[in-house]
Amino acid sequence: MSDSFESQRLTERYITPLFDRSLLLVAGKGCTVWDTEGRSYLDLVGGIAVCSTGHCHPAVVAAIQNQASRLIHCSNNFFIPGQGQLGERLASITGLSHVFLTNSGTEATEAALKLARVRTGKKQFIAFEDGFHGRTSGSLACTYKPQIREPFGPFATDCTFLPYGDAEELNKAISDTTAAVLIEPVQGEAGVLLPPPGFLAEVREICTDTGALMMADEIQTGMGRTGTWLACEHEGVTPDIITLAKGIGSGFPVGAMVAGKDLAFAPGEHGGTYNGGPLACAAALASIDVIESLMPFVREKEALFAKGLSEFHPRTRGLMIGITVGDRCPEVRDRCQKEGVLVNCTGHGIIRMLPPLVITKEEISFATSVISEAIHEIR
Ligand SMILES: *Cc1c(COP(=O)(O)O)cnc(C)c1O
Repeated sequence: MSDSFESQRLTERYITPLFDRSLLLVAGKGCTVWDTEGRSYLDLVGGIAVCSTGHCHPAVVAAIQNQASRLIHCSNNFFIPGQGQLGERLASITGLSHVFLTNSGTEATEAALKLARVRTGKKQFIAFEDGFHGRTSGSLACTYKPQIREPFGPFATDCTFLPYGDAEELNKAISDTTAAVLIEPVQGEAGVLLPPPGFLAEVREICTDTGALMMADEIQTGMGRTGTWLACEHEGVTPDIITLAKGIGSGFPVGAMVAGKDLAFAPGEHGGTYNGGPLACAAALASIDVIESLMPFVREKEALFAKGLSEFHPRTRGLMIGITVGDRCPEVRDRCQKEGVLVNCTGHGIIRMLPPLVITKEEISFATSVISEAIHEIR
């Protein structure tokens, strides 16, 4: 019995059946992953914007191995190696002051919601249609997609959804009882939906005028993904709270909620056993150095994707790329996989690509030709 067959059988028997999957991946290097049969694939899923430094980047591997051999865990009752250094880097990247480290994106959202409530004394939140902020109860209350949210309501978090990109609607809905406005600078899970130019700056201004906090969910768009540390930088906007995860640790689970100078938790208001552990800090610090060296080339790589796929009118912001192909999206994905390229389908029939930032020109050229052919075949 092959490894792959046995793994698949046990997974289907014992693991709660949430995901539709077809490949068992066992190794990765750079932008390439391998299955059990030794077949290689060019990975444009990138662990959903997680594997920014590529698979198993030697500097990240060394940092994790090194730390694992010294101290794996100790508890936040003690100072933790690397935690302060990571805090300093994230404060400098965001221009904000207080860092709370998490183990995932949804935990960063939860921390942001709690912080906004406890520091403003207000309970109401505004988020946007098609937005995604996580799947635990607070973040889910602010995640738009009715099929994933509605079965779990009513929620303790009061959130209203407005059309993404409509400043006038925001002006009407916001009030002095609004604690915060949650916004993705580019809607990632929705399929790389870009805000109209100027929208983020308008949201910033409206929040400032009404005293609501602006919370930017940069979990997918942040950490160099769009060619700058943060996607908000494209409009020169500084939010009050920024959430990060995905790309920050190259696959080691780590996230962060970073907030402005008057926005710190007081002792006892929040916490977590694993948050900001030694391995997470080591992985993140090593990843940040690698990302810093890759960021200057992101826009150039974006342009190659945009050119190679121009006939399909891709939406791009750095190395977030979306193409609307319609109902037959899964067929396009499967055809690409057969030809050795991994992409993913999001809602609204969109092919989404979030490749490692280490992707090369040659790899982009191969990827765009395979994807183009796959889209032509279904048309
Ligand atoms: C992935 C994602 C989240 C949730 O992160 P998890 O680590 O899956 O909990 C939240 N917001 C955005 C924009 C995301 O892309």
